[in-house]
Amino acid sequence: MGLFESALKQYYKAAKLMDLDPNLREVLAHPKRELTVHFPVKMDDGSVHVFTGYRVQHNVARGPAKGGIRYHPAVTLDEVKALAFWMTWKCAVVGIPFGGGKGGVQVDPSRLSMNELERLSRRYFSEIQIMVGPDEDIPAPDVNTNPKVMAWFMDTYSMDVGHTVLSVVTGKPLEIGGSEGRLEATGRGVRVVAEEAANYLGMDLRGASVAIQGFGNVGSHAAKLLSQELGCRIVAVSDISGGICNERGFDIDELIRYRDENGGVIKGYPDGESISNEDLLTLDVDILIPAALENVITAENAEKVRARLIVEGANGPITPEADEILQNKGIFVVPDFLANAGGVTVSYFEWVQGLQWYFWEIEDVRKALHKVMKKAFATVLKTCRYYDTDMRTAAYIVAIERVAVATKLRGIYP
Ligand code: NAD
Repeated sequence: MGLFESALKQYYKAAKLMDLDPNLREVLAHPKRELTVHFPVKMDDGSVHVFTGYRVQHNVARGPAKGGIRYHPAVTLDEVKALAFWMTWKCAVVGIPFGGGKGGVQVDPSRLSMNELERLSRRYFSEIQIMVGPDEDIPAPDVNTNPKVMAWFMDTYSMDVGHTVLSVVTGKPLEIGGSEGRLEATGRGVRVVAEEAANYLGMDLRGASVAIQGFGNVGSHAAKLLSQELGCRIVAVSDISGGICNERGFDIDELIRYRDENGGVIKGYPDGESISNEDLLTLDVDILIPAALENVITAENAEKVRARLIVEGANGPITPEADEILQNKGIFVVPDFLANAGGVTVSYFEWVQGLQWYFWEIEDVRKALHKVMKKAFATVLKTCRYYDTDMRTAAYIVAIERVAVATKLRGIYP
């Protein structure tokens, strides 16, 4: 089954439970636009290589499309469609006025020189410019793209229209219209929903034990905020180099410093015992945060998971079969497109700041993000109890309802 087909399965489950009008169900299931581009890039040795890229807008009923652009050799149209589809629901569940989009180029950027990467980025962006724009579709970083690439995208668009357009992309460097607080945003969103879920479950977070898989952007910021702002003990963390555990809880600033001086990995950190990525997932902890990869909790290991609360920092870390097992075990799961929506929420703030040419202090960004995430969690929890279902299905219901209402109000053109 392709990624888009399996994404549709989750959607249809929620659509059925909420008794969505069959006409609307079909309208919302389909992407609005799918663009494939083949474009030439001059390589440093004088040869010309033709690359393939995509941009998909799944739905724009609530506002311009929003979603990242990834550079990866395995990018396919099917994958980009699924990712754009999820962006629609992610933006809707947190109530920001965007639809869903996503893009990608089939390329291994580690094989390109900096100049080749810049030429590829500028040419790709000019190819998809027939779809993007600050009022149409606003890209952002994703796998293997970063603020530097966003700066090239913004400049390419601006050169073409003849003046600087900050809000055509988000995730830009701070010096050219990026937002304060964007880097920590997804981890901060995870921290907010973890606190809300713990309150609901009656779990005392002071001293609560937490295991985190993945110590990159999402995992390390979540670890820092949970320990320093909420008093949790981060007893286990892991990354691609393996994991470490310490019952007393890690000093996260120390661990981040070690990672940054150690080639980006935590391997060899002296203050803990080693543990495998697989064993980390089944530790007897209060909270588990998968923040690395998809499909890590499966039908094989779900039965052994002992956490009371799982907050999905990563996209798709729990398979549908595992989801059912966790539910039967009474484990409370905050689903990915709610839990990790902090990033796109601060992207929305960046877009607003760029449109107004007025830039916020970090405290304003944090306060506004906290409000959005807290409200989204409360709405999904209320829906979850109303329908007597799980939080993932409830998050879909909230999001689908909002897009369905917008579509009904606007009507079917002509
Ligand atoms: P990142 O590249 O900064 O960090 C990824 C981490 O996962 C690293 O610590 C890496 O070592 C680890 N990792 C990689 N392969 C692993 C393996 N086989 N086993 C264990 N650990 C492994 O990425 P990120 O931005 O933190 O993203 C993590 C997840 O969160 C992804 O699923 C991403 O799609 C999702 N996400 C990220 C954001 C964001 O704003 N960064 C927003 C929404 C969702």
